[in-house]
Amino acid sequence: MSTCTERLLRVDLTAGRTMVEEIPAEVRRFFIGGRGLGIKYLYDELKPGTDPLGPANKLVFTTGVLAGTAAHGFSRWIVMTKSPAGGTVTRAVGGGGFGAHLKFAGYDLLIVEGEAPRPVYLYLEKERAELLPADDLWGLDTAETQSRLVARHGHGTQVACIGPAGEKLVRYAIIIAGRRSASRGGVGTVMGSKKLKAVVVKASGQLEASQPERFRQLAKEQAEILRQHPRRRQLHQHGTIFMVETALKMGWFPVKNFREGSLPGLEALLATEYAKLKVKNGGCYGCMTRCGQVHFVPDGRWAGATNEGPEYESIWAFSGQVGATDIGFTIAADALCDALGLDTISTGNCLGFACELYERGLLSPQELDGLDLSWGNCEALLALIKKIAVREGLGDLLANGVQRAAEAMGRGADRYAMHCKGLELPAYEPRAVKGYGLSYATSNIGGSHMYGRPRHELYGGNDPRPIDRFADTGRGDLIALVQLQQAGDETAIVCNFGNSGLTPELLGQLLVAASGIEEFGDVRYRELVGERIVCLERAFNVREGMDRNDDTLPARMLTEPLANAGPATGQVIRKLDVMLDEYYDALGYTRAGIPGEAKIKELGLDWLAPDLAKRW
Ligand code: SF4
Repeated sequence: MSTCTERLLRVDLTAGRTMVEEIPAEVRRFFIGGRGLGIKYLYDELKPGTDPLGPANKLVFTTGVLAGTAAHGFSRWIVMTKSPAGGTVTRAVGGGGFGAHLKFAGYDLLIVEGEAPRPVYLYLEKERAELLPADDLWGLDTAETQSRLVARHGHGTQVACIGPAGEKLVRYAIIIAGRRSASRGGVGTVMGSKKLKAVVVKASGQLEASQPERFRQLAKEQAEILRQHPRRRQLHQHGTIFMVETALKMGWFPVKNFREGSLPGLEALLATEYAKLKVKNGGCYGCMTRCGQVHFVPDGRWAGATNEGPEYESIWAFSGQVGATDIGFTIAADALCDALGLDTISTGNCLGFACELYERGLLSPQELDGLDLSWGNCEALLALIKKIAVREGLGDLLANGVQRAAEAMGRGADRYAMHCKGLELPAYEPRAVKGYGLSYATSNIGGSHMYGRPRHELYGGNDPRPIDRFADTGRGDLIALVQLQQAGDETAIVCNFGNSGLTPELLGQLLVAASGIEEFGDVRYRELVGERIVCLERAFNVREGMDRNDDTLPARMLTEPLANAGPATGQVIRKLDVMLDEYYDALGYTRAGIPGEAKIKELGLDWLAPDLAKRW
């Protein structure tokens, strides 16, 4: 027995057909699971030049080896596809109960391809997979979609769906399950392009570990460690909101479209203030941390607004980034984005971009549709979010993301477009944490804070060695390392917040007891698989024509000293080229950013040579 089902479900929407396939044992061994299997299938099955919004693109939903088990914090799921944001590979991580239940239905992987002639949803039970009409659901928001499908299929039904933004092909649409979303890179946009409104799972059950008694013991051990861990308690109490205070002190909270690092009134957004509006906790399947903070605004301008969230990123998106300090607005805007199916990071980034263009007089009165986009004008910003979701007026321009919007406008607007490889930047100012700058620039999915997270620079510390976050160079190997570690962890889809106290050794023991595959217990083996994943993701982008020239940051980061950011004031990224060389050298890539011949051999990826050789 094993907690891996070793089965994938392939859904051809064009033909209206579903097929079950076996995941070959050697593929499992080589890529472990989660993001590993996701990139392997995506690389093999997509031709270079595929239109992200055409029927040839595929959506790969993956789960980890420990999803649906008694181990805590492993039931998240990953969606991978070719991104409509930047044409790169992308991966988005979701939570809730969907991942565990997909496993209960009998699948480790779900591959969706083609395009349905009319809106449909996929209904899954154990040994049953069916495409059902979704005409009556098309146009509904994500909350209404989920509640109708749960009412139709009964208590315990899990739904992962898109909202109006996905249907309208807003390039940063999300897939949401319960109150947790797979948000980045436009995975919901691809789902909308396929006219797939939802994936619905009605299944329960138990996954039998390879070594059941040993697994039970280890899961108990992990639960005990978690129960006593102070970080778990902090996350349970405040989620990631506590980071606002740290970010403001350290100068890495971006303000007004990454122009500066502080704004009077932001202290109204500290964790203690959100705690006053907290109603209860929310969380994902099988997680003791339950980091979700459900808020409700009892009175004032935003009375009645409620949501699980916002967390750190979304608070920033609807405060610092748009020059606002209104706690109720952050909750209302976060709830609206979830309902419409919009990525809060990209939405907030687009709003800040529009505010800066407005301030600089780069938007004409006709383009503004009567909106006053002064910094912090929350009513106008809320109206603009609605316009984005339905692609109306200025919303239509912004629905394509800042890179495309700036290109369409001309007028020098690209100077104010804060993205990497077409993906809007998140809530960490790269000039104040230069390792994040390098990670954004080199990330194979674009400007993501979760591709590699340089904690040692964000919070200080000596692991793996001390580094000055303002130093111009000297970190290429460390950024490579955190990216590889993240990829390795995402083979098991370990939650970055639900993993308090989880050592690499304990994770290895859990994986072996669950799967019966000894290699998974070896830390070095998992690091090797992490490196394979990052290398394969890079090869995907190289095959699309990308190279070092795409590993860059917005000009603002390279030329404008950061203003008004406490200890980070005056910082600018001076030596990106040197950092890139360090990074490529650490990974065995050429100085053009292409995985080298010796490296792909070492990783067992020799079969990439025909795709890469012309770029060596
Ligand atoms: S820590 Fe939070 S995000 Fe992570 S699995 Fe638990 S509830 Fe979900």
